[in-house]
Amino acid sequence: MSELYQKRVKIHPRRIDGLFQRLRVLTIFLTLTFYYVLPWLSWNGRQAILFDLPHRKFYILGITFWPQDFIMLSWLLITAAFGLFFITTLAGRLWCGYTCPQTVWTKIFMWIEYLTEGTRTQRMKLDKSKLSWRKLWRRSTKHVLWLGVAFLTAFTFVGYFTPIRELTVKVLHNVLGPWEIFWLAFFTIATYFNAGWMREQICLYVCPYGRFQGVMFDTNTMIISYDKARGEPRGSRKQGSVPQLQGLGDCVNCSLCVQVCPTGIDIRDGLQVECIGCAACIDACDSIMDKMKYPKGLVRYTTENNLANKPTKILRPRLIANGILIIVMLCAISFALFTRVPLRLDIARDRNHLYREMPAGTIQNSYLLKVINMSQQPHTYRISISGLDNLTHSIPDTITLAAEQIMDLPISVEVAPSSIQQPNSVLYFTITDINNHRNSVTTKSRFIGPRS
Ligand code: SF4
Ligand code: SF4
Repeated sequence: MSELYQKRVKIHPRRIDGLFQRLRVLTIFLTLTFYYVLPWLSWNGRQAILFDLPHRKFYILGITFWPQDFIMLSWLLITAAFGLFFITTLAGRLWCGYTCPQTVWTKIFMWIEYLTEGTRTQRMKLDKSKLSWRKLWRRSTKHVLWLGVAFLTAFTFVGYFTPIRELTVKVLHNVLGPWEIFWLAFFTIATYFNAGWMREQICLYVCPYGRFQGVMFDTNTMIISYDKARGEPRGSRKQGSVPQLQGLGDCVNCSLCVQVCPTGIDIRDGLQVECIGCAACIDACDSIMDKMKYPKGLVRYTTENNLANKPTKILRPRLIANGILIIVMLCAISFALFTRVPLRLDIARDRNHLYREMPAGTIQNSYLLKVINMSQQPHTYRISISGLDNLTHSIPDTITLAAEQIMDLPISVEVAPSSIQQPNSVLYFTITDINNHRNSVTTKSRFIGPRS
């Protein structure tokens, strides 16, 4: 009976050096530095990037984003998705190979494995060897280091959602709250299992992005590919021999490209969904080509058209349309960001009384104004009301709100009956920062009067 899932064969990728692996180390270094350092940076005395979920506020470089601004965040996520489609159509799995967190942390964990358990051959031997003190020591050192990195990753991640300096003090004094303990434990375990144990299984069976790629690829997409026309027929030969004289192609069938592959595939079998675009096989094959004194690039970044000796077209309709969409979205987000007024005025009418007839003969309506200073500085505002003639109101001349303060302001508006043309009139409430008139918002409400 065939099994539902294929049994996992443990992969021991061989370490390889080369141009693309050095590029990967550089991008991994940059992304990790960015990830670990960012929550420690301050802006105006506050954590520069903080997603304060309990208070539903995001602090990003001096700007406070309130729930009302979250539409911008969804635009940003949509733009990022289009950006990923664009890069994939143009250059294949660059994201997977160089910047995806799964790849980045797996690479770190593999490096720890190399430091503690040795080369590919030594690791395979260790796997097969019986339990000994040496094996126990190597294994436990590896797992302790893995857990250390996993905890640091989880700690940093939680530090994006709760002030990281306060979190550090809490960890050091062992006074964490239940949720902090839960999330720290959750992300530590998730990182440890994903990067230490699951590795390529996440790319193969969990990540949906890998499955979408077929839709985004075309014959002009840059992929990592083996040049069959040049490499076949493959076969071993003596160093320095001329392959053509032996009826061979350039592939010496050394299998180094397979040994270095973190997903255990053979690039010579063609484009496969398992390929995460790490370019290890390019560096491996180039090192062999160097030894054999053959030109590099038997395995290389290329396109299907190029391999078929057809011209590669970089600018194509799908790519152009995608690029235009990204530019339009980025312009819309920038416009929304630069014209954003960090001030909000919500108005609720008194629902208990439609209106009151005052002893002086005027008609009175009551409102509850909710003023929100959405900025990180205190501001003084003036509120004005328009829409009806000869109105009087109980609003103070100016109001001052501290940074991020929400003020409830009950007020009443009185209008002479002669000014009321209809029982239901529109009133405009305008609030303006007295020091910056660009910071101004107007909200509509209703003034109800008696039917004449
Ligand atoms: S075939 Fe393997 S080694 Fe080559 S790029 Fe793909 S995942 Fe990396
Ligand atoms: S590394 Fe290059 S030469 Fe060696 S098997 Fe792979 S493709 Fe052939």
